Amino acid sequence: MNIIFLGPPGAGKGTQAQIICANLGIPQISTGDMLRSAIAAKTETGMLAKTFMDGGQLVPDEVVIAIVKERLAMDDCQKGYILDGFPRTVQQATELGNIAKIDVCIDLDVDDEVLVKRLSGRRVCPTCGAPYHVNMLGDQTTCKADGTELIQRDDDKAETVLSRLQVYHQKTAPLIDFYAELGLLKKIEANAAPDEISDNIMKTLEASR
Ligand code: AMP
Ligand code: ZN
Repeated sequence: MNIIFLGPPGAGKGTQAQIICANLGIPQISTGDMLRSAIAAKTETGMLAKTFMDGGQLVPDEVVIAIVKERLAMDDCQKGYILDGFPRTVQQATELGNIAKIDVCIDLDVDDEVLVKRLSGRRVCPTCGAPYHVNMLGDQTTCKADGTELIQRDDDKAETVLSRLQVYHQKTAPLIDFYAELGLLKKIEANAAPDEISDNIMKTLEASR
């Protein structure tokens, strides 16, 4: 199945995509992770993307679309994938429609105040990308999977979080109607705990097979 995870920053797209991808044995395609790798590798794309990401703005459509096209052409995508954080604009969604057949779009629906709490308490593993929240960490400061010291993403700092939410409402929220009109939208209430949300997503996916 070719699946899109839609939702605001902090909705749990990354967390849920990791769980569901492991369940279904398909790759997670996160444009945010790919852009952060490009920044770490200091590629030309990475350096360009960084200027937008640091300000909480979207990276230009043509840059992100090119990255996704290349990724979807790889062998491991042939039996399905989850797009996590792409598309984020109507133009991206339109171009995606030209190169892929999407089966379902899962919209993770979360209240803005919950988002701000989740984003500002979020910590990530710079090695494997696994997300954590300070409320769940206690004294632990390292990744459970690989022992790397966890970090706070630059764009999770309070001043950038609000611009990211604004950008979401302006540019990405219109995709809810876009996919509803195509009959592909499944809304999941995502204020709940992570395992409850993944159960609901799995049920929804089984019902749309
Ligand atoms: P994420 O990890 O999905 O929250 O993405 C982090 C940042 O990467 C976003 O705030 C954007 O600056 C950039 N980014 C990720 N995916 C996209 C996309 N599909 N279109 C434009 N910018 C993106
Ligand atoms: Zn890790």
